[in-house]
Amino acid sequence: MPSVDVVLRSAGGAVAVAQFGHGATVQAIRSVLACVREAVRTGGVAAPPVEALAAEAVAALERDAAPSLRRVFNLTGTVLHTNLGRARLAEAAIEAAVAAMRNAVALEYDVATGQRGERDDHVRGLIRELTGAEDAVVVNNNAAAVLLVLNTLAAGKEAIVSRGELIEIGGAFRLPDIMKRAGCTLVEVGTTNRTHPSDYDGAITAETGLVMKAHTSNYVIQGFTTAVAATELSKIARAKNVAFVNDLGSGALIDLTRYGLAPEPTVREALADGADIVTFSGDKLLGGPQIGIVAGRADLIKRIAKNPMKRALRADKVRLAILEATLKLYRNPDTLAETLPTIRMFARPKADIADAAKRILPAIAAALGNDFTVTVADCSSQVGSGAAPVDALPSAGLSMAVTPRKGSGASLEALATAFRNLPVPVIGRINDGRFILDLRCLDDEAGFVAQLGKLNALPPIAGGANGAA
Ligand SMILES: *Cc1c(COP(=O)(O)O)cnc(C)c1O
Repeated sequence: MPSVDVVLRSAGGAVAVAQFGHGATVQAIRSVLACVREAVRTGGVAAPPVEALAAEAVAALERDAAPSLRRVFNLTGTVLHTNLGRARLAEAAIEAAVAAMRNAVALEYDVATGQRGERDDHVRGLIRELTGAEDAVVVNNNAAAVLLVLNTLAAGKEAIVSRGELIEIGGAFRLPDIMKRAGCTLVEVGTTNRTHPSDYDGAITAETGLVMKAHTSNYVIQGFTTAVAATELSKIARAKNVAFVNDLGSGALIDLTRYGLAPEPTVREALADGADIVTFSGDKLLGGPQIGIVAGRADLIKRIAKNPMKRALRADKVRLAILEATLKLYRNPDTLAETLPTIRMFARPKADIADAAKRILPAIAAALGNDFTVTVADCSSQVGSGAAPVDALPSAGLSMAVTPRKGSGASLEALATAFRNLPVPVIGRINDGRFILDLRCLDDEAGFVAQLGKLNALPPIAGGANGAA
């Protein structure tokens, strides 16, 4: 066995030191030598040549240097997938982000007067223009927006919410917990399925800080149900002089039914329906950065902006640049299907997706051999991120089933793993005995097909030799 020093001084070792540094290279060579020593001891094989050992160390260092936050193909059928980063940004927004990252920017500086400025001023006017709100502030995300609003308007007071709207969004965002952390006392009214105007009316006292409506983003209550409409609730709150907050969640800025989505109240409608404050996310239906937007009455926004918590929850220059560029695209709503990826994916017709599936099918079938049967299949995409939970967009994709054959040993789990192990991992889903790739969100068809050949080189997806029967 060569020593660490000998491998280090080989040609490959020198390249590794130059690229990854001395310490990391020594570590990598030590690991490689330990593995090889073990293989030599137990397997009785000869130690590989020095250059092969160095090459193995370089490969390990390269694997380690690859980003952890990897690009993936989202073929789950869920357009706004929270675990896969939600909205993909518009090119105009990406350019704005890069410029803001590379340069000093007038973040809190008024170039015209040379005076200090406000970071939210870069998007405030746009939000007002696009929603009809009197004023707005932005924070880290919508969870932060809700927390900040509750803390500002109802700390030490009561916040009234219907039992049908005590939402959990996923992660640790549960409305009762957020209320506690915001320092307000939750007052539940009504029942899970039915809440009446008199329930709210009877609960408002001198202790009430606000009345809240939360969009039941990720579930629907069906059957014997009744809820109080926003317009009615706003009248009840106004009559008793308490603020009415509507947490919209996904926050559409335009009517998305023209793209086949179920009707969702837009931010403008929610404000017109009497909400004093509306909160919504930037990276759901809006198609922008992770950000939370608080829009509404100027006097309340002023108080919210002054809350010291705002400083802890504020958005950075990059996301403000992304939001500004994204909002500007909404000034021309008729071109959003071209300019904004989220809308483009919603708008993509099923026939177009099915054509892509037909084009790709032969390449997948060739890569998988006889162990799997591949067909073009109808599927239904989801909006995702809790927006429009029961809404399905007719879509198409590729469906793979294990070919019934004696002793093949092929499994869908192994197939799903093989797709995830590709250089750009492909994320699909297993449903009803099939592995399904919904192609709605695939726009890099060439890149997808180019790596399919590598499926066979991966650990076996069949019991036999790599699925190649
Ligand atoms: C998604 C959502 C939130 C949380 O928003 P994030 O941007 O994920 O922080 C809060 N309320 C509702 C109703 C939501 O749908």
